[in-house]
Amino acid sequence: MRKPIIAGNWKMYKLVAESVATALALRPLVANANHCEVIIAPPFTSLKTVADRLEGSNIKVAGQNCSTELKHGAHTGEIAADMLRDVGCTHVIIGHSERRHLYAETDSMVNHKTQAALAAGLTVILCVGETLAQREAGHAEPVVRGQLEGGLRGLTSNDLARIIVAYEPVWAIGTGHTATPEQAQEMHAFIRRVFAERHNEDAAEVLRILYGGSVKPDNVVGLMEQTDLDGALVGGASLDAETFAQIVHFNL
Ligand code: PEP
Repeated sequence: MRKPIIAGNWKMYKLVAESVATALALRPLVANANHCEVIIAPPFTSLKTVADRLEGSNIKVAGQNCSTELKHGAHTGEIAADMLRDVGCTHVIIGHSERRHLYAETDSMVNHKTQAALAAGLTVILCVGETLAQREAGHAEPVVRGQLEGGLRGLTSNDLARIIVAYEPVWAIGTGHTATPEQAQEMHAFIRRVFAERHNEDAAEVLRILYGGSVKPDNVVGLMEQTDLDGALVGGASLDAETFAQIVHFNL
């Protein structure tokens, strides 16, 4: 019922030519992947070229961030959500832990970005996740609840259809220490419960919750077997087309 999503976050890697080469290498490798949606998030500078070269394929393109502001204006260095739409994006990643921790993004900023992205017609991949210190202090669930409630404040039930949540424990991102399938399942089930409480059971039932944090071809199957795990947001392992394609084909 919930179609899985495998999304690749290229972070601040790849010049335009490298982005195009990776996207074109990926295209035939995932062309028959009807069991899931495939999304890649190249850096801003490659978006238009990559989206153009992927036209007619089953690979969708996402931005990695957008401005809190939708109205064009004097915001040097920012990219408005409709600019992402304009260059061919269908999705945008918001609230990635690197944005929250390296660039001090708050839940309120994440909320404004989410509202702007939805207004521009994008689907949002909203990232949440606790740090190791927060987990060890027993605060993982309240932290994730706070990020979800803060990020989704004021959204209508229509908006929720264009929200995807990515649970990305900060201690698992880029560290090689992936959460165990059981740890991931526990938090995914919690996220679905929060969604049911705050919104409604139907929205919670169809919500797709991705796991992110050192997902690789050799651990994706165990993760995807979990009931509440609907896909993966992949960083490092998405940079290589063949490795990412192996993750996309987790079902084979
Ligand atoms: C990410 O950037 O969202 C991520 C999960 O990175 P990695 O797969 O490298 O841990």
